[in-house]
Amino acid sequence: MYHKLSGVPGRRNYSDQYSIDTSAFREHVSLLQDEGYVIEDIATFTKRIIESRSIPERYVLLTFDDGHKSGLDAAEILSVFRTKATFFLTKSYCEQLPDYLSPEEIRSLRTEGFSIGTHGVTHCGLPFLSYKEIRRELAESKHWLEEILGEEVTMISVPGGYIDDRTLALCFEHGYQIVGNSEEQMNSRSNISLPLVINRVAVRRHFSLNTIWSIVTGGTFFYFWRRVRAKSLWLPKRVLHTYKKTELVCRPKSMGEDGPHGGSTR
Ligand SMILES: [Zn+2]
Repeated sequence: MYHKLSGVPGRRNYSDQYSIDTSAFREHVSLLQDEGYVIEDIATFTKRIIESRSIPERYVLLTFDDGHKSGLDAAEILSVFRTKATFFLTKSYCEQLPDYLSPEEIRSLRTEGFSIGTHGVTHCGLPFLSYKEIRRELAESKHWLEEILGEEVTMISVPGGYIDDRTLALCFEHGYQIVGNSEEQMNSRSNISLPLVINRVAVRRHFSLNTIWSIVTGGTFFYFWRRVRAKSLWLPKRVLHTYKKTELVCRPKSMGEDGPHGGSTR
């Protein structure tokens, strides 16, 4: 899972942990293809499930969260490698922030063969909201994207990666067939069917090519430390998020200089 690219001529430069240098992103894709990995977007993966087609031995799904304009640059790079990704878009970011995709740009990504899913309305962590608020996030973001694209939207990545049983059940109830989270674990290859939850690893700025290799090959050391880190951050993150919700920091109007992912949330 990526968020945005940096170092793109003509665009603003970012240095937060979720901004990946364009040259590094190109190297990631190149490494995977050189090593024989099939890189696909989630819609193509879903089609494989529906048509009961096999999944290649070396297989990676690429996603971008939030809807930053540099997704257009990522799409350009991916087109050179003849591969696709899925973009998950946050409604309020796209509607209110200048550096985020406009309806025309969203449609153009779709026309080029990239798939699109929702990433909520406000980017608030769904489990921290009431039933009514979760329903609104799921329904309003879906309706907004369907109006722009003129087709059904059945994929969501949950803001901040936060998910619980109640949220998951509501996602499925609202017609989402794929739910992407931020659980940093390899996905199982057995019993794949729809609806489905997909684990994703957030690629950080400081990740080396070796780290990217560990992510796709299930590197024991990498995943062990990510699990330790997730456990150690669980409580502080929960407290922080409760605080943020109270202060409405998850709304775009309160974003810091680096945008919605200038800090440690995703
Ligand atoms: Zn996000």
